[in-house]
Amino acid sequence: MAIDTAAPSPNLRPGGPPSVDLGPATALSCRECGTRFPLGPSFACLECFGPLEISYDFGSEGAEELRKRIEAGPASIWRYVPLLPVPADVATKPNLNPGWTPLVKADNLGRELGFTGQLHIKDDSGNPTHSFKDRVVACAIEAARVFGYTTLSCSSTGNLAGAVGAAAARAGFRSCVFIPHDLEQGKVVMAGVYGGELVGIEGNYDDVNRFCSELIGDPAGEGWGFVNVNLRPYYGEGSKTLAYEICEQLGWRLPEQIVIPVASGSQLTKIDKGLQELIKLGLVEDRPYRIFGAQAEGCSPVSAAYKAGHDVIRPVKPDTIAKSLAIGNPADGPYVLDIARRTGGAVEDVTDEEVVAAIRLLARTEGIFAETAGGVTVGVLRKLVETGQLDPSKETVAINTGDGLKTLDAVSEAGMTAVIRPTLDAFRGAGLASA
Ligand SMILES: *Cc1c(COP(=O)(O)O)cnc(C)c1O
Repeated sequence: MAIDTAAPSPNLRPGGPPSVDLGPATALSCRECGTRFPLGPSFACLECFGPLEISYDFGSEGAEELRKRIEAGPASIWRYVPLLPVPADVATKPNLNPGWTPLVKADNLGRELGFTGQLHIKDDSGNPTHSFKDRVVACAIEAARVFGYTTLSCSSTGNLAGAVGAAAARAGFRSCVFIPHDLEQGKVVMAGVYGGELVGIEGNYDDVNRFCSELIGDPAGEGWGFVNVNLRPYYGEGSKTLAYEICEQLGWRLPEQIVIPVASGSQLTKIDKGLQELIKLGLVEDRPYRIFGAQAEGCSPVSAAYKAGHDVIRPVKPDTIAKSLAIGNPADGPYVLDIARRTGGAVEDVTDEEVVAAIRLLARTEGIFAETAGGVTVGVLRKLVETGQLDPSKETVAINTGDGLKTLDAVSEAGMTAVIRPTLDAFRGAGLASA
């Protein structure tokens, strides 16, 4: 079955059938005007500059067979190889095998937030470099191999730089990645330790991204695959695996509500794409689901547009502790608005104080230590319930996209309860003894 989330167009560009082997991927198509292009390292439509996405031919395999094939696959994103733009033998190549992370029944948190329906946390902090970015890089690197790149690069708010550095090290690519110079130490060390080049740019993420766009067109960046720029269509598809895993872990069922953090908006947009594919392929029963976006108040261009009823995103200068979400000019922001509105969801934001409180709440109730982005998601989840925007009687999934060890400063007050001499008297004196 051919599935195309963009408007269909008979206008397949010359160049013949794709000569590249990226599994079921057949073409790039413009999300805005539907014009199709052969698979290649391009990201913007030559007709209208709209973003390109991947179209597929998923074949005619029945839903039951496909489900069985997936269930028999590896405990990583590669169980979904039939639905991804990667060669069929991808799991045999050197890569970090990310994904298949736990879907945690969050009964304690649910109770605190007033849920009567089941609440789950999709905990992606256990990926190889401790964020969901390993999923997107794993897909982008296959496209980089096919298109013959030897250096991997990216503009990053921190986690992507680490994911690219690690994946490049394993797969034998050179890497040179770019981050704002003032990131958290955990992110900087995590990105630098794998031995690639790590360049701090004096500016914020939007400056880093603009710089990378210039580098792509310059001989200085010749032959480089920028996972989130010229390989962006392939990169984005990695986020679909979050949708696939959540539904499979629920017993091949759609959740009723999903809360997703928003930086560029790629992850949220592609989770929706993944859910739509599962419905069209008959892998899950079609029923309504609502998608909610989460931002930090200090960088909330999408939430602001949502609340104002605008379709256009006004860029902002980020100022928040949630640095992994600090993108002031989000490329996929308008699509996040569309999806939130179409599914009956919302986009909401919380203050940095609420982010910290939510990190501690999630840790205290479920034993999950999230980075600031996870604090944004759980903080927004709480606010959505309190303001009646999200229905706590419905099955809900919130995604924790990163590990708290990378953003220790955010919760530095969570230190020792007492410091004492090593004697029982001292311990009794601290008021902690059971009797
Ligand atoms: C990159 C990132 C996101 C969101 O990314 P998008 O650009 O919206 O796809 C969310 N959480 C963490 C921890 C991230 O690193």
